[in-house]
Order: sequence, then C-alpha cells, then structure tokens
Amino acid sequence: MLRIDGSRGEGGGQVLRTSLALSLVTGTPFTMTNIRAGRAKPGLLRQHLTGVKAAEAVGAAEVSGAELGSKELTFRPRALAAGSYHFAVGTAGSATLVLQTVLPALLAATEPSTLRLEGGTHNPAAPPFDFLARAYLPILRKLGPTVTATLERPGFFPAGGGKFHVDVRPAPMKPLSLLERGRVLRRDAKAVVAMIPFDVAKREMETAGALLKWRPDELRVEELKRTTGPGNALVVEVESEHVTEVFTAFGERGKRAEVVAEEAAGEVKRYLNAEVPVGEHLCDQLLLLFALARGGEFRTLPLDGHSVTQLETMAHFLDVKVDVREVSREVREVVV
Ligand code: AMP
Repeated sequence: MLRIDGSRGEGGGQVLRTSLALSLVTGTPFTMTNIRAGRAKPGLLRQHLTGVKAAEAVGAAEVSGAELGSKELTFRPRALAAGSYHFAVGTAGSATLVLQTVLPALLAATEPSTLRLEGGTHNPAAPPFDFLARAYLPILRKLGPTVTATLERPGFFPAGGGKFHVDVRPAPMKPLSLLERGRVLRRDAKAVVAMIPFDVAKREMETAGALLKWRPDELRVEELKRTTGPGNALVVEVESEHVTEVFTAFGERGKRAEVVAEEAAGEVKRYLNAEVPVGEHLCDQLLLLFALARGGEFRTLPLDGHSVTQLETMAHFLDVKVDVREVSREVREVVV
C-alpha cells in the first residue's frame, strides 16, 4: 500500500487525480493524507469526489474516505472495466478533470468505452473543453488511441449544467517526438459570452487584437445560447504544423474585460516567443500521457508547479525516467 502525502508540491487536486489514474492503470492501492491541503477549501470538493467515484466504478475499487471534505482516502482497485459510464459532478466543478481521472485506465483497457460527463466544461484552473478537444485529445490520438469528445452544452461557473460525451478506443500507445512547433498555420481568438453584455466580448476582442497585433479576421465573438447560466471566456487557439495549443482566460464579476484580454494575450505571446510546441498547462497533462506511452520527447516552457508535482506523483507508481534539460532561459526539453 503506497502512502502519499497530498500536500506535497502543488497540494491541489492533481496529486489525487494522478494517483487515482495510475492506481487504476498499475493496480497499486494507495492511501492519501492531507488531501488538497494547499487549497483554501481543503479536502474533497464535489469535483474530486466525483473523480473518486468515477475511479471506483471503472476499477471496481474498495474505497474508504470518499466523502465531501474528506482529507484522507484509501483506494484499492480490483478489476478494470471498459464500458458505458455516466459521471455527473452535480455542481459547476470541472467535468474535464473527472474525465482525466479515468481516461488513462480506459486507455489501458482492451475494449472501447463511452462516457457521458456533466458539470463544468469551462472552469478557471481546469482544462476548458476547447483545450481538451483541440489541444489535448489530438496529441493523445497521435500516441495511438482514438479518443473524441463532443460538447452538448457548455457549463460555466457558478451555474454548471455543462454536458459532453467522449468515445474511447484504446490502442497500444507509442512514443512521440514533439520538438518542433512548425509554421503557425492559423490563429483564432474568440470571446465567448453567454448571458453577458455583448460589449464585454467586444472590449476583450479589441484589447486582445491590439496586444497580439492579429488581423481582424483572426478575432471573433461567439454568443452561446443554450447555457444554464452566464459565462465569459477568451479562448485563443494557435494551430501550427505539428501541434495546436489553446489558451483561455475567464471573465468574472468585478474583473474588467481588458484584464481578461491581457491575461490571455500574455500567455499566447510567451508561447509564441519561446517557439515551443507545448505550453505550460499542456505540459503537465502530456507528462502523464508520455509516461503511459513509455517514451517520447517534447519541448516546452520552464516547468510550473503542476508539472513538477506531476513528475513527483508519477514516480510513486511508474518506473519511468523523465529528464528535463534546459535548452535556453524559456525552453526546456523533456525526454521520457
Ligand atoms: P489542480 O489545480 O491541482 O486541480 O490541477 C489543475 C489542472 O488543470 C492542471 O492539470 C492544469 O494544467 C490544468 N489547467 C488549469 N488551467 C488550465 C487552462 N487554462 N488550460 C488547460 N489546462 C488547464
């Protein structure tokens, strides 16, 4: 039984999600203490609890401590089962993070799976659906498996109500080399608004356009109609020859549209200037996928706290060596 301290590194939900994912893949049971000790509301929130329940279902696991607010959990998987699953967070908590908790296990299964997920699809501090569908899953498909996600209804904080479904067709995972971004083929910045004054989107577009110096035809506004509550995000996509990256900044009450645009544009400029294929968020998520493929390499920005924590958590379960080499001040080469 592995004992993992959930307060290590980032001290957030990622330590727990990665542990659940790799416990399922390797069949290794674990006990975690100090769950999310580094966060303002520590312990299991609805999103994490849904992740635990999802992992319990996929791995026919024996679990104790699976309650809201719980800071300690024991998880013992028994048998992986592909199948048809429905997981609902019940709040605006991120449903894409619930997906990422069980996806590695479903990739390791022999049969295909389908998932229906409900909750938040566009959350700050979590992978937004656009990022999942256009940055993360295309790279996963290059590794071998065919995984597709279809959005049925977007869900923003605080109303939630988002829905999407995912088809998982496992295939042996093979190492990938992603050292070059290649030429930038398409740039797209869209201000997404639901039940929010159109003027907010317009100001986000104008500020982002001025900061990025992009053409008017690369900037647009999308008004969402079917949401259960208001929401606003600026979603910026950079499609290059070998990779697509997606950067997102969220609007919230009391935060000016110009600030939302500055946040997104800042991230995009840093990525474009460094000329790397993989941005900061994609990095921690790819580390896990590349480890499952037992090899591969990519270039990215200096590793953030999530990536460092990811490496630490992975090392509990997997015997993979990951080298991180400094190429220049803003460029790192990761070799798995
Ligand atoms: P945690 O804070 O421990 O719950 O982990 C959050 C996860 O969401 C990490 O894997 C982050 O890389 C990911 N994440 C946060 N913000 C974004 C974003 N804007 N785009 C993509 N992934 C994100």
